[in-house]
This record gives sequence, structure tokens and C-alpha cells, in this order.
Amino acid sequence: MATKLEYIWVDGGRDGGTKGLRSKTKVVNHAVETPEQAPEWTFDGSSTHQAQGHESDCILQPVYIAADPTRGGHHKLVLCEVFDNKGNPHASNTRAALRGVAERAKDQDPWFGIEQEYTMFQNGRPLGWPDNGYPAPQGPFYCGVGADEAFGRPLAEAHMDACIDAGLAICGINAEVMPGQWEFQIGPIGPLAVGDELLLARYLLFRVGEEFDIAVTLDPKPVRGDWNGAGGHTNFSTKAMREEGGIKAINAAMPRLEKRHELHIANYGEGIERRLTGHHETCSYREFKFGVGHRGASVRIPLHVQQQGKGYLEDRRPCANLDPYTVARLLVETICL
Ligand code: ADP
Ligand code: MN
Ligand code: MN
Ligand code: MN
Repeated sequence: MATKLEYIWVDGGRDGGTKGLRSKTKVVNHAVETPEQAPEWTFDGSSTHQAQGHESDCILQPVYIAADPTRGGHHKLVLCEVFDNKGNPHASNTRAALRGVAERAKDQDPWFGIEQEYTMFQNGRPLGWPDNGYPAPQGPFYCGVGADEAFGRPLAEAHMDACIDAGLAICGINAEVMPGQWEFQIGPIGPLAVGDELLLARYLLFRVGEEFDIAVTLDPKPVRGDWNGAGGHTNFSTKAMREEGGIKAINAAMPRLEKRHELHIANYGEGIERRLTGHHETCSYREFKFGVGHRGASVRIPLHVQQQGKGYLEDRRPCANLDPYTVARLLVETICL
């Protein structure tokens, strides 16, 4: 029985910039249900910003398996960590650094929900934008409906179905403030799982986008000027925050977050200064603010959380191009350890 395995990994990022996803297919003649059943594999790291030509082999270590909805049947997506030719986690492998941190915080049972915003492009323009000039000003597009307000819904819907069929914890989608911009949400699940599932959901978005001839960018500010950027709001809770009276634990996280603000900003996505301007529902990257229902804050406590006295907080700082393992590691280190 031929099984097609799509090996997926994070590359090294050109010039230290945003890292991309890569994938290639391995055909095996047995069923694969667990990462252990998927063989290790290698790739040419000199073509992915992960090695020099004379020592180019990098190792793919399968860590997470999901059904492959694009191929169907028993075919699988195989998410991998990258190791160098000496068997050490590659510098680009941020999942490895999260493993130990997640283990140390296990008793607090941290959960994450990531809102992944993204922008659809066709012919070099955001989808729905006129050939020349600009669309109508922002206003009607967020959660908009109708052919003059929603652009790209067929891809957003097909992507949601693909995530559901892959067994990912997708919990919603919506059209965003800038025309051609959309969001999907993953979670709430644990620190490693949210990264693994977000990366597979991104893979499916790019891959299903091919069928529609639509390219997707995670650029945090794809259009300059009076247009919203694209974020990766990260919602976070611990067991204590979710329990009765958990608002106390949520409030206690704020001074901790404030103290490490600069470190978080430096690791929340390339180009964060372009997006966190203090306009367009953001707080400037230069300051830390938190508030209930406050969309101009760095960290927001949702109104319903304040009312119920328990729940979670929303870190609004991460950009659409966030590295989910690094964001999860920093939040756990800052709040739990
Ligand atoms: P927004 O109002 O900011 O647009 P969304 O509805 O888009 O909010 O996203 C809410 C996110 O919060 C989802 O990703 C969901 O998984 C996450 N979430 C819900 N409950 C929790 C929780 N207890 N801990 C962490 N994340 C949570
Ligand atoms: Mn949202
Ligand atoms: Mn949003
Ligand atoms: Mn949000």
C-alpha cells in the first residue's frame, strides 16, 4: 500500500528574515499513524538558508502526523523538526527550545489560541483591489458579506474544510478589516500542539491557495498607509486563570509581561515596527498597555473574561509572521516560570 507522506518543515529564513515553510513528498509502502512510523529523512540545507553547500545535509525528524486532506485516503502530513548533520537541533529549530520549557510548566497546563491573520494576493495586488488605485476606505470589510465586501471567501472556506479534515483544532474564520485579508483561529490547545497545528494550517492555506491561483502572505503590514496590518493575536491561559477567581492570576501576569516587553517585541515577528504603530487597533511597540476590551492595548482582557472573573488574556503584539514556538516559549517563561 503506497502511502504519500508530505514532509513539512520550517526553513532558515533569508538573511535572518521571516522563516518560510518547505515540503517534499516521500512514498512508503506501509501505513503511518505516529511520528515514529515515519522515517527520518534529509534535505539540502544549502537551498533553504540552513547550511553551506559543502556541508549541506540537514535531518528531518518527524514530530507530528495529520491526515492529508489534499490527497485524501490514508496519506499524511508529516511535520518535522530540523537537526544539523551532527544531530543537534538546528539553529532554526525553535520547537526544540520549547520542549523543555513546556515540560517545566506542565503542572500549570498552559493553553494557547492563535488568531492567524493573512492577506490573499493575485497579480501582485491584494485580492479584490482594483487594477489601479485603491478600494473604498476600510469600514465595511471586517466580517463583511456580499460580493462588493468579501474577497476570497471560497479559499477561506476550502481552507477551513481542509483543516477540519486534517483533524486540526481550527475554531473559526472571519474576513478582516482590510479587503483581501482574512483570519483563522487555532486552539485552545497546549504549547507544542498550537505551534504544530498552526504550521500545518499555514501549509494547507498556501497549498489550497495554489488551487485558486491565490498567493497568501503573512507580511505584518502588506500595504503601507491607512490599511490595517496583519497580526497573530495569541490568547493564553493557565489552569489557575481558567478556574473560579482566575482573573487574579490574569492580572498578576501583567507586570510580568510589562517587565519583559522589549524581549517579546524583539521576537514577535519581523517588521513588527511597521505594524505596531499605535494606529489601526494596535499599541505602539514602544510602550506596554493592558486593558479590558481595549483593542489599542498590547494585552487585552476580553470583556467576557472580566465579567466571569476567569478565562484568558489576549497578547495582541505578535505579528502574522510569528514563530508560534517562540511566542509560546516566551509567554510560558514570562508568566509561568
Ligand atoms: P477576537 O475577539 O480577539 O477576534 P477570536 O474569537 O478571533 O477573538 O479568538 C479567540 C481565541 O481565543 C481563539 O483562538 C480561541 O482558541 C482562544 N481561546 C479561547 N479560550 C481560551 C483559553 N481558555 N485559553 C487560551 N486561548 C483561548
Ligand atoms: Mn479574532
Ligand atoms: Mn483579527
Ligand atoms: Mn484578537
